[in-house]
Amino acid sequence: MPSSDEAQVKTSPPLAEREVRNWDAEEDVIVVGFGAAGACAAIAAGEAGASVRVIERGWRGGGASAESTAQLYLGGGTPLQKACGFEDDPDEMHKYLVASCGPGADEAKIRVYSDRSVDHYHWLTGHGLYFEPSFVPYEVSTHPGPGQGLSFTGSERAHPYRDIAKPAPRGHTVLKDGVMSGEFMMQNLMQGAADAGAVIQADTDAERLVVDGEGEVVGVVARVRGERQLLRARRGVVITTGGFAHNEEMLRRYAPALTGHPAPIGPPTGDDGSGIRMGMGAGGAAIRMDAGCITLGFAYGHRDNIRGILVNAQGQRYVNEDVYQTNHGQIALMEQKGQVYLIVDDEIFKPPQDQSGELVPQEFEIAAVAETPEALEAELGMPPHSLTHTLATYNEFAAKGEDPYFHKEALWLQPLQNPPLAAIDLRVGHTYYALFTLGGLHTRPGGEVMDVEGEAVPGLYAAGRTASGIPAQGYNSGLSLGDGTFSGRMAGDSAAARSR
Ligand SMILES: Cc1cc2nc3c(=O)[nH]c(=O)nc-3n(C[C@H](O)[C@H](O)[C@H](O)COP(=O)(O)OP(=O)(O)OC[C@H]3O[C@@H](n4cnc5c(N)ncnc54)[C@H](O)[C@@H]3O)c2cc1C
Repeated sequence: MPSSDEAQVKTSPPLAEREVRNWDAEEDVIVVGFGAAGACAAIAAGEAGASVRVIERGWRGGGASAESTAQLYLGGGTPLQKACGFEDDPDEMHKYLVASCGPGADEAKIRVYSDRSVDHYHWLTGHGLYFEPSFVPYEVSTHPGPGQGLSFTGSERAHPYRDIAKPAPRGHTVLKDGVMSGEFMMQNLMQGAADAGAVIQADTDAERLVVDGEGEVVGVVARVRGERQLLRARRGVVITTGGFAHNEEMLRRYAPALTGHPAPIGPPTGDDGSGIRMGMGAGGAAIRMDAGCITLGFAYGHRDNIRGILVNAQGQRYVNEDVYQTNHGQIALMEQKGQVYLIVDDEIFKPPQDQSGELVPQEFEIAAVAETPEALEAELGMPPHSLTHTLATYNEFAAKGEDPYFHKEALWLQPLQNPPLAAIDLRVGHTYYALFTLGGLHTRPGGEVMDVEGEAVPGLYAAGRTASGIPAQGYNSGLSLGDGTFSGRMAGDSAAARSR
């Protein structure tokens, strides 16, 4: 008898079709999960003429997508970029994404995504999403304020990316009454699925896939209020059940660096890895399972704090402070074991503020305050002369507008010489690190799930966070929904076009 922890990790073996006596329902395409990826798969398959059934374990769907801040990473010259006065093209977008989503970024997916991003913008707006033509007028933006549709949501202007690709803002935010709204985005996409003719079956938990004697996926075993249902898919099954951030045992096995302190985000009813395990059970390969989007909550709290310096437990700088907050989470946790501090002086430090200038109650801890670098270093338990040396070197070059070691943009360079000095505690356990997983089923750009040999598992598709998509070991805000809506669309199209 496996323990419940083992049960959370074991792949879900499929049911053999020969054991099915009667199917309870039958459609061309079955979509499992009704978040952004599932809704877009259902819209695409339905509009392509397939009959579609969406099964969703919640009472209506929405998933993490409905709880999100609704930023979508789009570019290549979208109407919103143009309306806000920015030039962009698919090649620059491709270069940036390959550089920032690696190592291990899926170049083929990034190519298709960059080339078709403008088309995807039109597809999304054609299904009710609206992007306000206004740009966040701040140097580094994490959360746009009311009425702001376009923002930088990555490290496009920071070293080394600014020298790799021409920077352009690509964070497109869905707003409802001026406020970013995943709920509004999902209301539109779920309505779009219904309008495309999809049957939406809520309160239905998918448990296993059904495969025929050739290994082809032909249906789903589901549980509806305790009763088993067998649902046949004539053309294909698209799995879009999210990732596995809420499955502690899967995290321990596949992504040990992500266990412990980072807090999984998204509704606890989802992201349990069930779709990934079903796909693996049917022969699908899972890749990049150790990858996650790790956001350091108090990245800065206020953009002026970028003028401070980030140091590790040895008092050394380790990154240019002007990279994006998801890069900070990744680097701090994976490369510095989550043992980092932001050092500021009295002139630089600003209390947390949102983009419209309002002070926000953001919890953070001060690890130490001191009049001199020596005293701060001692209070933090760092090796003697470590932070002192780091600060002296940084200050010497910052005074000349230079950062020869990490190349922070000159705009953010200011010597830290106005005591007291303070160390904001960004160690795991002392500030908020948020997590969702990025690893999943190995898919082609069209959503076909591949086995370990790189062959398609016939009849099986995956999208959104159930699949390993565009973000791999690096993340920019908006990529999960951008990639999720696009990959859902591709998978829905592919499944609908398939004939047995
Ligand atoms: C607070 C917050 C803010 C965020 N902001 C952004 C942002 O601005 N931009 C961005 O790109 N990303 C953002 N993210 C991340 C992003 O929202 C998710 O990664 C993305 O929505 C995942 O989409 P999905 O369709 O793959 O999964 P989901 O939206 O989670 O949908 C999966 C659905 O499958 C259902 N399901 C799960 N298992 C089963 C099963 N076995 N049977 C049937 N149904 C099942 C779930 O109930 C759920 O409805 C944010 C996340 C959070 C929590």
